[in-house]
Amino acid sequence: MTALLEVEDLRVAYGKIEAVKGISFKVEEGEVVTLIGTNGAGKTTTLRTLSGLIKPLAGQIKFNGKSLRKIPAHQVVSLGLAHSPEGRHIFPRMSIEDNLRLGAFLRKDSDGIAKDIQRAYDLFPILGERRKQAAGTLSGGEQQMLAMGRALMSQPKLLMLDEPSMGLSPIMMQKIMATITELRDQGTTILLVEQNAQAALSLANHAHVMEVGSIVLSGTGQDLLHDDSVRKAYLGED
Ligand code: ATP
Repeated sequence: MTALLEVEDLRVAYGKIEAVKGISFKVEEGEVVTLIGTNGAGKTTTLRTLSGLIKPLAGQIKFNGKSLRKIPAHQVVSLGLAHSPEGRHIFPRMSIEDNLRLGAFLRKDSDGIAKDIQRAYDLFPILGERRKQAAGTLSGGEQQMLAMGRALMSQPKLLMLDEPSMGLSPIMMQKIMATITELRDQGTTILLVEQNAQAALSLANHAHVMEVGSIVLSGTGQDLLHDDSVRKAYLGED
């Protein structure tokens, strides 16, 4: 079986600085794969490259059997790859519902769109309660929910989440992680970038540890959760 996403020997540089130094990994349909690692490891750069926002120096990106290397960012989403970026990027003056609708900008099936808006409200009831309010009035965690809901509105084959727990209170973080688990259990394929290694490894099928541009360790989420070096470096254990 070919994987939904296959990344091979991907290299990405900003000028002379090589931020991603030849990484390879796969995401199979229906699984959650996580990239963990400290600040600056190259995780965000990897997601931005997969989305077509940065052009790689070298390497292959195959999505659903098709090479993404020459596909511009605005077409990547139409192939089924949605990106919920770090820092959320919602539109603060627009209503919550209009922000969700923006995620469906390529779709014409108004019944399906209405159904998926309802699905976002089922996943995140607070968004439904406040659907007419400006998105900028939401708390950080609620804005994260909106960003995830909006990414889902394109009915992606692969949902990429960049640091969904960043800056959230422990309770809000648990809520976001529970939702990612729920999406996984519904069959959504997810590529999750997280600094919260404990949470990400607990729910991931496969995981890769990135350090200064390279993948230094790979395994199942459970393998890495119990790996001594991961526990010391990322889970704060002695
Ligand atoms: P973080 O969690 O802090 O976002 P990360 O693992 O996602 O970390 P990246 O943001 O991908 O890491 O950064 C990888 C490296 O590339 C870092 O050394 C960073 O300083 C550098 N970098 C990122 N964006 C740029 C840019 N626009 N121009 C130059 N260098 C950059």
